[in-house]
Amino acid sequence: MAPVTQKSALEFAPTDLLVGGRWRPAEQGATFAVHDPATGKVLAEVADATVADGRAALDAAVAAQADWAATDPRERSEILRRAFDLLTERADTFAMLMTLEMGKALAESRGEVTYGAEFFRWFAEEAVRIHGRYAAAPSGGTRLLTMQQPVGPVFAITPWNFPLAMGTRKIGPALAAGCTVVIKPAAETPLTTLALARVLEEAGLPPGVLDVITTSRSGEVSEPIIRDPRLRKLTFTGSTPVGQTLVRQSSEQLLRTSMELGGNAPFLVFDDADLDRAVDGAMLAKMRNIGEACTAANRFLVHESVAQEFASRLAERMGDLTVGKGTTKGVDVGPLITEEARAKVVDLVADAVEGGASVLTGGEVPSGKGWFYPPTVLTDVPASARLLSEEIFGPVAPITTFRTEEEAVRLANSTEYGLVAYVFTEQTARTIRVAEALEFGMVGVNQGVVSNPAAPFGGVKHSGFGREGGFEGIEEYLETKYVGLAL
Ligand code: NAP
Repeated sequence: MAPVTQKSALEFAPTDLLVGGRWRPAEQGATFAVHDPATGKVLAEVADATVADGRAALDAAVAAQADWAATDPRERSEILRRAFDLLTERADTFAMLMTLEMGKALAESRGEVTYGAEFFRWFAEEAVRIHGRYAAAPSGGTRLLTMQQPVGPVFAITPWNFPLAMGTRKIGPALAAGCTVVIKPAAETPLTTLALARVLEEAGLPPGVLDVITTSRSGEVSEPIIRDPRLRKLTFTGSTPVGQTLVRQSSEQLLRTSMELGGNAPFLVFDDADLDRAVDGAMLAKMRNIGEACTAANRFLVHESVAQEFASRLAERMGDLTVGKGTTKGVDVGPLITEEARAKVVDLVADAVEGGASVLTGGEVPSGKGWFYPPTVLTDVPASARLLSEEIFGPVAPITTFRTEEEAVRLANSTEYGLVAYVFTEQTARTIRVAEALEFGMVGVNQGVVSNPAAPFGGVKHSGFGREGGFEGIEEYLETKYVGLAL
């Protein structure tokens, strides 16, 4: 395969809607622009779906549902497996597309291709392991059977921060379970999803089973789909306020819903922690995806006896990172997604500094084009600072201290979010105690990344509900039917 260039990657991504197996423009031919956050340049114009286009996509998914549900599990599995192979072969194209439309450095985008493709391989394996039960009723006579059936047409809404993986994490289990899918990517990053649909077509997915709508009016186009009685399931990854709105809309049809929402991850470093591991873990938990991850460490809670050393070592590592356009060799940290996203980070840091925080590294917005923000470490952060309670979504590490294990757990839990917490300690008993006490859906122990296609990803409290990945991932797309059989 010829080396991938920006041009060849952009040419690979369709720019039309995919409805019923046909690539076509939006009604009235409207389009919207996709921008490179590193330069502000327009990368492509993609179809701007209307309400009627959204309805047409749902029509197509509904029409394809019965046949897809009746497909042999092995056939669904093989299609997903082929899509995994094609994604892997095309890793450089997908990495380039993500870097162009989202900003992260190419090496990170390649990492996301590996991670994202793995959901197709994992759920290709799960498609042939959908089981029911058989049991005698305790009182005898009747036999109790259960069967697992696809929930039905699914509407998937994905965010811009992991343009590939947030799609495959939903499409993989839905297709494996026998559900058809309408997917709506974020307006900032539609190209990766469109290219993904092309790969699934190449892998042999029948027409209508996956339909893609891109739109600049997400609320207006999504709501009629969600309120349509033919839809059976809504799966959403994005911010908590939007998730709350969508749950309200879903209540009308009592839809099955999965909500992967915002986070405010605490990163606990105990006095017995291996500081080398803690600093390595902090770099990953903070800097993966430029800090634009729901799993990003948002608050560093460090035992007072090791806080100074941890802070200075983290600041040194953060200060060594190279900021720049993600396609440039040697760049570690790309731009933030939009001007507003960067303005929010600037505002949160200013608020912390006004409250008394000290800047160990970073904190200054560079001049020039692109929404760049430097890796930043703050110490002496006051408890009132907004960035301790709000999602920063940028490369800023605020450090605060604690004295006792009880205090650490109390501070960690003092948020309405509950996605992931990180714990660094060398004591097994403390690991278990703290992991049990943390009110989060996931806990990373001595590691700064928990995402793994074979593990159930998801949160509690305002971080949402439902799990993606692992054995649990496919259950979100299956209904249990019980059959009582008199002998
Ligand atoms: P967002 O603003 O909530 O948008 C997410 C998706 O929802 C986008 O496709 C967006 O489309 C769409 N959307 C926005 N308003 C909508 C509405 N009224 N009706 C229907 N769809 C609507 O979130 P984001 O800024 O893209 O992503 C960042 C957030 O996602 C953060 O809070 C992050 O923590 C969270 N996240 C969570 C997870 C997890 O697994 N828990 C993973 C990744 C990200 P448009 O952008 O085109 O409007």
